[in-house]
Amino acid sequence: MVALDVSHATRAARLGKPKAEAMRGRVTPQAVSGHFRRIKWGVLAACLGLYYALPLLRWDRGPGQPDQAVLVDLAHVRAYLFGLELWPSDVILVTGLLVLATLVLVLVNALAGRVWCGFLCPQTVWTDLFLLIERRIEGDRRERLRKREGPLTLRRSAEIGVKHALWLLVAVMTGGAFALYFADAPTLLRDLATGAAPAAAYGAVAALTLTTYLLAGHAREQVCTWMCPWPRLQNAIFDPKALSVAYRDARGEPRLPAKRALESRARGEPAGDCVDCAQCVAVCPIGIDIREGPSFACINCGLCVDACDSVMARLSRPHGLIAYAPWEAIEAERAGTPAPRWRALRPKTLALAAGILVIAGAMITTLALRTDLAITSVHDRNPAAVLLSDGRVRNGYAVTVANRSLQERTLVLSIEGLADAEVSVVGADPHGRIVLEAGARRPLRVLVNSGAQENRDVAIVAADVVTGATRRTADVFVLPAR
Ligand code: SF4
Ligand code: SF4
Repeated sequence: MVALDVSHATRAARLGKPKAEAMRGRVTPQAVSGHFRRIKWGVLAACLGLYYALPLLRWDRGPGQPDQAVLVDLAHVRAYLFGLELWPSDVILVTGLLVLATLVLVLVNALAGRVWCGFLCPQTVWTDLFLLIERRIEGDRRERLRKREGPLTLRRSAEIGVKHALWLLVAVMTGGAFALYFADAPTLLRDLATGAAPAAAYGAVAALTLTTYLLAGHAREQVCTWMCPWPRLQNAIFDPKALSVAYRDARGEPRLPAKRALESRARGEPAGDCVDCAQCVAVCPIGIDIREGPSFACINCGLCVDACDSVMARLSRPHGLIAYAPWEAIEAERAGTPAPRWRALRPKTLALAAGILVIAGAMITTLALRTDLAITSVHDRNPAAVLLSDGRVRNGYAVTVANRSLQERTLVLSIEGLADAEVSVVGADPHGRIVLEAGARRPLRVLVNSGAQENRDVAIVAADVVTGATRRTADVFVLPAR
């Protein structure tokens, strides 16, 4: 086995490349029941339920506003998440969200390895669903392997056809549901069904259908092992103190068939608890033999734990030969020293949790301080300033005002920092007022004439004539170059 050293891990911790079945061809995992399998089914149902239901949820934002709870409105460049509305200017919040998600993933990794991959990752959820369909139609592992080697009869062809048809149906539903996040879901559903939807919608559904079908139906464990960058990072972030699925070789070795193990123990000779039944390998969706040591491809799904526990139960041996345990505990067992307990609260996890709290706090503060009136300006570049015939100077600005509230607003613009400024707004009414509908943004051209004798720092101010709310944007007033 090619093994990769993990220099910061304890002395024998090595993350090996997946071997066993994964290296011999297509992985055909066997069904298994048990504690972790039940958790995985529950998580799968919750994730799929959420994914399909979210775009159908309604959220009243008032007249003229979209009433979809979760919506990415590409046409108007904004996103809605229940009561939260994100504008392009909120890119800092989106960045914060991405940093937060990364930190949470790293924290989860420090607590329990690739447990995200084994339970919550969309690739795992959809692959589990596709495998369930395959099993229902073609049978469990042995039957599938036998059929794969057997002749292509009419019945076998029908099975293959039905399986792929159902896979495609799930894939279409997945792609269709994804498109619903980008438009009013009931309208888009109707348009998709009647052929009235825009070509881009059909393109998005087709692309998502194809990727779901290929990744969950065909690529499966190849995605988790070779295509996703997360396993590649495991060598750098593998934590011997984190919970990860491990084979307790101090207890399992020497492995012997059940009968020979009994005889061996009766003679007072050593016999491990592993009976070499290979059930742990057969149920593994990645095709790993976890008894070979930690593998960067292991997604910590716990299915081999379920398989081995049921074998141990049949043999009346204690369960936990394969278990979630820190790697340093496995090594301590080998060395015959007391195994350290898994601890959630460690300097590393506390530091990560603190980082998460700080970023979450900063995002909440940003949200709380966010106003529903926004103004930005860009100073003219060429020419930056024009000398008028009366000796005054004119500067031009491209100003954008945005009304993020649910009510229409009437604004007036003024300039601070120039006492004699004469402001004219192209796009305002004869009284200099700008009427902005709820949720609207408007580009304006602002011209400022002044007799200023030097460059000045100024602020362009938008004021709501009804509420008195103001927003300002800093800019400069410059004189022509001499
Ligand atoms: S399932 Fe348990 S007993 Fe069977 S081979 Fe795996 S570790 Fe050994
Ligand atoms: S080795 Fe066990 S925990 Fe790891 S992927 Fe395979 S079944 Fe899941």
